[in-house]
Amino acid sequence: MKILIQFPEGLKQKALNHAKKLESEGNEVFISASPNFGACDLALDEAKNLGVDKLIHYGHAEFNRVDFDVEYVPYEIDAPLDLLPKSLEYLKDFSTISIVTTVQHLHQLEKLKEFYESSGKKVVIGKPYGFAKHQGQILGCDIGSAASVDGKVDAHVYFGGGIFHPLGALLSTKKPFLVIEPFDNKIEFIDAMREKYQRMSKGKVLASLEARSIGIMVSTKNGQHNLKLAGILKKKIEESGLSAGIIVSNTFDFDSINNMMEFDAFVNTACPRIAIDDTERLRKPLLSANELMQVLSMKKELSQMRERS
Ligand code: SF4
Repeated sequence: MKILIQFPEGLKQKALNHAKKLESEGNEVFISASPNFGACDLALDEAKNLGVDKLIHYGHAEFNRVDFDVEYVPYEIDAPLDLLPKSLEYLKDFSTISIVTTVQHLHQLEKLKEFYESSGKKVVIGKPYGFAKHQGQILGCDIGSAASVDGKVDAHVYFGGGIFHPLGALLSTKKPFLVIEPFDNKIEFIDAMREKYQRMSKGKVLASLEARSIGIMVSTKNGQHNLKLAGILKKKIEESGLSAGIIVSNTFDFDSINNMMEFDAFVNTACPRIAIDDTERLRKPLLSANELMQVLSMKKELSQMRERS
């Protein structure tokens, strides 16, 4: 069988090892070198160009259905649990907590739950909204496991590496948010970041009020492609008397977008995290669809005020 194998950035170091194992079983194997950050980004074009029979995607669970033979191989990582006793000091004022984690540590969720329950906490495990597939699991774009139980808990606990995943959940919840990073041996509340990102969002909306032309970003990645939303936004922008263009890429290169100087602002329809995490990489404001709607409504109010005065 001809197989293309694909790994996210953190696991690319293991690609050759897996390729050799599959070759020893009689397969012809290719390794995708393209950047990858999720199962929303399957190497389908490469797979089709190479004419392989199957794509094996390591490190993530299925994101959306595609018309190609894809095998998902999630990667479990056993993170040390030594920080749990110390985390109780941080959680002493909260009796009901939610626990969220990434797909790599889902197999440890039950142990985490047992630990906190045996320490006297009530633990609630939320359900994702749909892109993530397991209770307690969060993705950068599916924070349902935290947001769906925000009203039922006193605090949220994220267990895992990095700030990317808990940041999305933080911005969609209101309760105190504790991050336990077992690999960095760090425990901290990240609530202060909520205000920072809210300020950034307001700044982008205000900076877009004078925009006359807006670029609508559409990704061709399997799980990020949203041409329908782009069409709706284009219509709304044009109805507001502004000019709009749909710009398309697989992975957006921010230097290239910065060269598109005819646009005064951009709105993102691809991975929702782009309008949160990458705004500082663009010289022009980079809005989410919601932020764009705020801009259009404020522009309308301003022009009505001008007409009245
Ligand atoms: S957050 Fe973005 S990169 Fe990650 S799975 Fe969702 S769409 Fe893909």
